[in-house]
Amino acid sequence: MDFYGHIIDGVEVPSLDGGTMDDIDPYTRQPWASIASGTKADADRAVAAARRAFDEGPWPRMGFEKRQQLMHRLADLMEAHADELAMADTRDMGKPITQSRHDVARSIWNVRFFADHARMSMSEAYPMDSGHHAYAQMDPAGVAVAISPWNFPLMLATWKFVPALAWGNTVVLKPAEDTPVSATITARLAIEAGFPPGVFNVVHGYGPDSVGSALTENPDVDRITFTGESGTGKVISRAAAANLIPVSLELGGKGANLVFEDADLDNAVHWAVESIFRNAGQVCLAGSRLYVQRGIYEEFMLRYKHAAEALVVGDPKDPATQFSAALASEQHFTKVRSYLDEQSLAGGRVVTGGLGDGWSVRPTIIADAPATARVIKEEIFGPIVVATPFDTEDEAIALANDTRYGLNAMVFTENLSRAHRVAGKLRAGTVWVNCFFIRDLRAPFGGVGESGVGREGGNFSREFFTEPKAVVMQIDRG
Ligand code: NAD
Repeated sequence: MDFYGHIIDGVEVPSLDGGTMDDIDPYTRQPWASIASGTKADADRAVAAARRAFDEGPWPRMGFEKRQQLMHRLADLMEAHADELAMADTRDMGKPITQSRHDVARSIWNVRFFADHARMSMSEAYPMDSGHHAYAQMDPAGVAVAISPWNFPLMLATWKFVPALAWGNTVVLKPAEDTPVSATITARLAIEAGFPPGVFNVVHGYGPDSVGSALTENPDVDRITFTGESGTGKVISRAAAANLIPVSLELGGKGANLVFEDADLDNAVHWAVESIFRNAGQVCLAGSRLYVQRGIYEEFMLRYKHAAEALVVGDPKDPATQFSAALASEQHFTKVRSYLDEQSLAGGRVVTGGLGDGWSVRPTIIADAPATARVIKEEIFGPIVVATPFDTEDEAIALANDTRYGLNAMVFTENLSRAHRVAGKLRAGTVWVNCFFIRDLRAPFGGVGESGVGREGGNFSREFFTEPKAVVMQIDRG
């Protein structure tokens, strides 16, 4: 089995205590790689390296153009290693290889986009009547800790560490313990690209009482950017508060998908399938609550069931597979399957789906569950959607907003006024109209309620990863 170590201060190293963990392929249910498993000592030395690189090294001082060049060199190397990166994510979490390839392409785009965005950004100037002139200078914030989840291993890691780097910060990334490999490969490529030592560090290990908490509690850290569960977000938020540092939290979701009678049904069915069965519903943005207007409910459900059953289920390494016969881990499979018990369904009926082979749940549609059922209230993070009919626009909005989450929602309608009206009233960080998952990296991304705090993307990432400084100059002494 290949070994993947931490990357600290520009060198790949084992854990100080020699600890390792097996990296399990959830489809074969066998270990396929050996990973360094860190402790607080490894987290501390990674933060110390990042601190040194920030305080004394060239990265924050080299200027935007040079950083842009180095980041594009990293992107070029990632392109050259795209197959290896995609297969790493597929073996780590069982994602169909075609989707992993898409994620890698998007990760490379994250690198190129933020490299260019930082280079092209401007700051404001404020001419003053008093004979003074003021301007804002965006200084890098310092050492950023990025903690990422397992569902889009490389894509979500790059979404966090790349803007931090582009703005001149140094970084310690802790990828999820179930999906560590693509992070180490990328950090190796950063060394090859010529990143100075200590600029981009990766530490592997677990979250609570381990590497994760050690990173978030370290007083030498200036920013924490986290994507993961809402419960973990609350713990990390407390750690950040103890050190009085800003934290950006991208958390869980329970996305509502509203399909009105005037929708283009083929389009709505297509996205209803994609939004919950892509990556087996292990997506924060999943459309896990489907609300369909009563006049088309029966026809929609018939088409939806056929489309869900037509998905090609199989080995995630096979390019023909559309839906993986493996959830990300045994632990996650145990959680997801628990939502199929009678108590969680609370009278709901399984229209299609149920348990699959190995650690898998098939594409599952549930109907007739009451609004209080666990399957409607809780984030399942698996391929299980609950469908409910509605009568009026107001009722649809009320149902969609009846959640403690607020990451995203979808609206399917051909009525322009209704599209704007409903989008305006939905309590969510992103609303998609007649589509899903489309992103412009300049747009704000984040959630309301228990779906998160803060926004990332374009200038929103800049706000988070920099300290704006006002410089006021006397121009005219007269
Ligand atoms: P998780 O919260 O269990 O773990 C995420 C990361 O945090 C991992 O790297 C983990 O090791 C680390 N961690 C756990 N406890 C920690 C602690 N006490 N201190 C520091 N680090 C700790 O989440 P997960 O199961 O990996 O991911 C799934 C969750 O992520 C879902 O709730 C999903 O909705 C959410 N998510 C949100 C977004 C978004 O953009 N809003 C995107 C993807 C996933």
